[in-house]
Amino acid sequence: SLIYLNGEIQPAESARISPFDRAFLFGEGIYEVCIIINGQFVDMDSHLARLDRSLGACGMTPPPERAQLPQIMHDLAHANGITNGFAYLQVTPGATPRSFTAVPQGRPTVMILAQAQDFLSAPSLSRGITVQLQPDIRWLHRDIKTTMLLPQVMAKRSALANGVDDTLFFDELGITEGSSSNVFIVEASGTLITRPLSHHLLAGCTRARIITLAQDAGMKVEERIITRDELLRAPEVFVTSATYMIVPVTSIDGHAVGDGQTGEVTKRLQDAYLDFMRSLSAP
Ligand code: PMP
Repeated sequence: SLIYLNGEIQPAESARISPFDRAFLFGEGIYEVCIIINGQFVDMDSHLARLDRSLGACGMTPPPERAQLPQIMHDLAHANGITNGFAYLQVTPGATPRSFTAVPQGRPTVMILAQAQDFLSAPSLSRGITVQLQPDIRWLHRDIKTTMLLPQVMAKRSALANGVDDTLFFDELGITEGSSSNVFIVEASGTLITRPLSHHLLAGCTRARIITLAQDAGMKVEERIITRDELLRAPEVFVTSATYMIVPVTSIDGHAVGDGQTGEVTKRLQDAYLDFMRSLSAP
């Protein structure tokens, strides 16, 4: 496959990244994942805006090709013949001597890969996912989309070991987010609830899109803390992310959510999201 690395689309097999890259030595990296549906990138602008915010939050300057990133991502998808799949983009400060505070002299590393995947036929869309709850052991800058993903990898491996699909995190206030998603509940009244943005969770691009689509459809959305009790009693629960899109949660720590099927409101929002994605490629 072909990747983009530091100015050039090139074969992944021969691409080279320095062993002194600060992402490798210090975990100093920012990333984004943006899906491609029928040849169209979904919410690319909000993903790139969040990339800028994440870079700024850890004192990294935008890479020299920042303005060309949309074109580069399109070119890379095209070069790989991908009309349904995703682009993964990572930016790091580049190479320095192995010193915490060394200032990079060269260019930042920008790596983009594109991979085919048929998100619209994911079984989880209709079947939903089962989850477990775990204390959120991550750091307190979860608003930065960093490549330091060890806690998320451990949470997802633990879910699989425990026979469920994924892990949702909680802190002393309530549910923070999923290991790679944002969490919503639907109240009996039909109102959507999701945790307000703060440094305790990532500002999901899909979260923002779903809130807009829900409000456009006349639904009420409240941003407030969801306690663990409330989550377990909610008639409907769903998660959002670029790659999940919007997926119902059917069981939490072995307790069925509602009747264990996709709820009515969740289904309506799935349909609205599919319509939105179709509208991107409409002539
Ligand atoms: N929270 C975390 C921890 C994530 O990794 C993700 C996936 N990037 C999200 C939320 C959802 O964000 P988005 O909708 O932008 O994919």
